[in-house]
Amino acid sequence: MIKKTRIMTPGPTPVPVDVLLEGAKETIAHRTPEFKKMLKTASENLKKVFRTDGHVFILSSSGTGALEAAVANTVSPGDKVITIVGGKFGERWAELGQAYGANMVKIEVEWGDLAEPAQVEKVLRENPDTKVVFSTLSETSTGVVYDIKGIAEVVKKTDAILVVDAVSGLIAEPLEMSEWGVDIAVAGSQKAFMMPPGLAFVAVQTEKAWKRIEETSSPRYYFDLRAYKKKHPDTPYTGAVNLVYQLNKALEMIEEEGMENIWKRHALFAEAMRNGVKEIGLELLPKKPGNVLTAVKIPEGVDGAEFLKVAREKYGMYFSGGQGKLTGKIFRASNLGYVDRLDMISAMAVIEMVLSDLGKKVPIGAGVKVVEETLLKG
Ligand SMILES: *Cc1c(COP(=O)(O)O)cnc(C)c1O
Repeated sequence: MIKKTRIMTPGPTPVPVDVLLEGAKETIAHRTPEFKKMLKTASENLKKVFRTDGHVFILSSSGTGALEAAVANTVSPGDKVITIVGGKFGERWAELGQAYGANMVKIEVEWGDLAEPAQVEKVLRENPDTKVVFSTLSETSTGVVYDIKGIAEVVKKTDAILVVDAVSGLIAEPLEMSEWGVDIAVAGSQKAFMMPPGLAFVAVQTEKAWKRIEETSSPRYYFDLRAYKKKHPDTPYTGAVNLVYQLNKALEMIEEEGMENIWKRHALFAEAMRNGVKEIGLELLPKKPGNVLTAVKIPEGVDGAEFLKVAREKYGMYFSGGQGKLTGKIFRASNLGYVDRLDMISAMAVIEMVLSDLGKKVPIGAGVKVVEETLLKG
C-alpha cells in the first residue's frame, strides 16, 4: 500500500518545497557581501516575528542551544532564579539553571496546568533578590500556553529579567516582545518557522537584559552574546549558509501570510482538533489548552506506544507521545507550522482509524465531521 509521510509532531514540522529547494543552492563563503546582505535581511525580518526593536541573533544549534545561551549569559553561580516548571521544557530551564550553579526557586505546576501571573508575583515578592525568571510560552510537552503578557507585567516591576522559551510558541501564538516588555526570548527553526532543524534564535529586547548579560560571570564562549552583538548582523563564527537561505525564504512566506493570520490559523486548527477528539470521547490533557498542539489522553485499554506505532507504520503519520512522566499516557497532534486544513482532517481520520485498529470502539467519521465543521467556520 502506498503511504505518504506526514509529520504532525511539534518539531520537526513539515517543510514547504520552496524552503527545501533553497537549501540545495550553491554554498557561498560567509564573509562575502552577498552573505552579509542575506544576514541583514534575516535579522530585519526576524525582528518582525519576535515583535522586537532589539537584536535577534542567529545561532547554529537546535533550540536548546538558544536556551543554554540565555542561561550562560544571564546566570552567575549562586544567582537566584525562578523557573516555572509545568512540563518537560520548564524542566529543561531548571536543569540548565542547575548546570550553571543557580540558586533555584521552582514554581511547580501540575503537568498540563498553568502558572498564573499572580503566582509568579507572589514568589517574586518572597524572593526580592531574584535575578532572572525563566518561563515557557508554549509548553510543548503538555500543549499549555502561558500568559507571558501577564508574567511580563509582574517581572517588569522588579529588578529581575524575564527570559521566555518561545521555541514552539513563536509565530504560532502571539508574543509581543517590545509591547509586553519581554527581556529575552528564544526560538528554533524546526517549529513554526517551517524550516529544518539547525538554527536557533535569541532575541534581546531591553537594556535591562544587556546590563545583566554584561554583569554575568559564567564562562561562555561560542554562545557569548556579547560577541554576537559586536558582529551583528553578521555571525561571529561561520554562519549556517544554506540554512540562512532557507530562513530568508521561510520569513518571506511568513510575512506574506501575515503574523495575525498565522495566529488565527493556529487557533482555528487547534480548535478543530480539540472538537474532533472530544467528539469521539477522548479527553484533553490541559485544562486550558493552547493553539500549538493538542495533547490527548490515551484512552483506557489502548497502549500509547502501539498507538504511535500503528499511526506511523500503517498510515505514515507521525504523532508525538508523552515526554517524561507523561510517556505512554498521552499523544500529541501538532498543527504547528506548514500544516493545512486537509492535514488536520487526515490527522483526525488517522486517530479514528488507529483506535479502531487497536480494538477501541469509536464512532468512525464522527471526529472528522466535527473537524470539517469547525474548519468551515474559519
Ligand atoms: C522543541 C523545543 C525546544 C528545543 O528543543 P531542541 O530539540 O533543542 O530543538 C525547547 N523548548 C520548547 C518549548 C520546544 O518545543
